[in-house]
Amino acid sequence: MESALTARDRVGVQDFVLLENYTSEAAFIENLRKRFKENLIYTYIGSVLVSVNPYKELEIYNKNHMERYRGVNFYEVSPHIYAVADNSYRSMRTERKDQCILISGESGAGKTEASKKILQYYAITCPASEHVQTIKDRLLQSNPVLEAFGNAKTLRNDNSSRFGKYMDIQFDFKGAPVGGHIINYLLEKSRVVHQNHGERNFHIFYQLIEGGEEDLLRRLGLERNPQQYQYLVKVNGLALHVFFWDNCLLNIIASVLHLGNVQYGGEEGSACITSDTQIKYLARLLGVNGAVLTEALTHKKITAKGEEVSLQPEASSARDALSKAVYGRTFTWLVNKINCSLSNKSYSVIGLLDIYGFEVFQNNSFEQFCINYCNEKLQQLFIELTLKSEQEEYEAEGITWEPVQYFNNKIICDLVEEKFKGIISILDEECLRPGDASDMTFLEKLEDTLGGHPHFVTHKLADGKTRKVMGRDEFRLQHYAGDVNYNVNGFLDKNNDLLFRNLKEVMCMSENSILTQCFDKEELSDKKRPETAATQFKTSLAKLMEILMSKEPSYVRCIKPNDSKQSGRFDEVLIRHQVKYLGLMENLRVRRAGFAYRRRYEVFLQRYKSLCPATWPNWQGKLSDGVSTLVKHLGYKPEEYKMGRSKIFIRFPKTLFATEDALET
Ligand code: ATP
Ligand code: MG
Repeated sequence: MESALTARDRVGVQDFVLLENYTSEAAFIENLRKRFKENLIYTYIGSVLVSVNPYKELEIYNKNHMERYRGVNFYEVSPHIYAVADNSYRSMRTERKDQCILISGESGAGKTEASKKILQYYAITCPASEHVQTIKDRLLQSNPVLEAFGNAKTLRNDNSSRFGKYMDIQFDFKGAPVGGHIINYLLEKSRVVHQNHGERNFHIFYQLIEGGEEDLLRRLGLERNPQQYQYLVKVNGLALHVFFWDNCLLNIIASVLHLGNVQYGGEEGSACITSDTQIKYLARLLGVNGAVLTEALTHKKITAKGEEVSLQPEASSARDALSKAVYGRTFTWLVNKINCSLSNKSYSVIGLLDIYGFEVFQNNSFEQFCINYCNEKLQQLFIELTLKSEQEEYEAEGITWEPVQYFNNKIICDLVEEKFKGIISILDEECLRPGDASDMTFLEKLEDTLGGHPHFVTHKLADGKTRKVMGRDEFRLQHYAGDVNYNVNGFLDKNNDLLFRNLKEVMCMSENSILTQCFDKEELSDKKRPETAATQFKTSLAKLMEILMSKEPSYVRCIKPNDSKQSGRFDEVLIRHQVKYLGLMENLRVRRAGFAYRRRYEVFLQRYKSLCPATWPNWQGKLSDGVSTLVKHLGYKPEEYKMGRSKIFIRFPKTLFATEDALET
């Protein structure tokens, strides 16, 4: 603490609440920059940890470092992800309250790395027995498995998680990790069939093709060269690690690649498959009848009686839908499988949330809509819980709570999720409506229902004129973090996430033991339509909020310093955006609304007792009297501080700095 506080000119302050000019974004960023230059990638805002991706290995994650943070209070050591991990662990142990650590930030900001570091911290520092060791190993091993199936190289991150993940680590009464449970959110299935330029499919495909043994590839009918596969792109040498999987799983991965190579031809008005090589492999790998599969890949049933028409021209999208369904469901199966191996023994829990941050691209679609909705929900939770805990602390300490003005984003959450008139409801309604429903009629419905809402904008102006800056196929949401335009193209299809009945029927007949668990025959008999993608997501988010609400939260806010994955480059424009999207200034404002600094009496007295003859070397009376005597001696004015039940609250950083400086002299 000494060095960090007194060397603040060089390395900045280790807690943003100590910034004199706390409303200034420039001062905020300057502080980040100073610290980043010194490889100090962590800074607090009160109990929130802000982390800047260093894009290089730092010597701060070894066992010695872990030891340094064990059982030590936040402010006694420099900010670190281990401090957050340890603090949560200690609160769980001493207060018997379940914890969660919420990690957010944009792609490439370091969320997954942070969550791995927390997991490693527990694996190494928590007590263990033999059984516990296997659970620890499994918890750690679950990461590479899920990453193989759920991560891919993107333009922004070579190892980008294409799904959201919430993981419970379960501890027994001795504080040893004894189990775990993972929930996955919204896998980006579209990546299976299509990747943007410069991006790749999920790692597992390359791992299999490049690392699989000759015999295995021969059995699966695969060639070593990724360029043979429509679903894959050329890889430029990445170290790949091969797993040993059971055959059913390998068969599924291979069959997705074969599906991608199914070629359609045929005359106008009918679809046929031009070569039966793929079908031969597919039949064997998926454990289905080849002729039935061929039929399902080329025809669809249009009536309940089973009348069929040729699938042309939608055959290839039906095939892609099958690939996505097979892959997506297998991913969920895998998560379940891992969950079974982790056993479920909940005494106390620490949850880790590693989920996509706010996204704004040139072109934003259904996926960004869902992701940004998720971030609105998390922001709401954050606001509610932060304000609540601030208020509770003031009340517990007997200090008057002064209400803080802040933007409550509930209005935006409602705009998206409200029954009947929220965007998701309107989208579902259009998806259900037979006839001429399209992405554009969806947009019109949105305009009719939501026109005039303070956070919803389209190109139409109230006076009948048009807003030139917006496309006619877009709507804009004014999110808490900023405005985003969404293009409605594809919204209905993506929300329907339709798999033709014929294809479902084939999959339900599969003899592949994983697929029999993924495709349930009940789906066929069920008259009810399956839930849409947006509604499923909404439901899973509501459940997530419930889980998080029941726990005590800690926050890690990750920032990406530049777009070129380079160490040492601090791109100010990019960082300013993230400070905004992460709501850090607002966060700081709320945290600073009352008192910048608070410390327990014994800690405060211990640190500064040498500054006052009456408290040195030891104060004999009540701790609060000692602190009172001390600060009066130091000349604190009544408006500068308040005395709580167990803590002193100091309003301005400069008061504290003056005291710190006095220690030096
Ligand atoms: P996405 O949303 O795309 O999944 P992410 O926020 O999970 O992104 P990570 O995969 O955690 O991002 O980090 C991206 C890369 O940045 C890592 O592969 C690693 O190279 C580097 N990185 C992140 N955090 C650290 C760190 N603390 N120390 C060193 N390198 C890091
Ligand atoms: Mg990630």
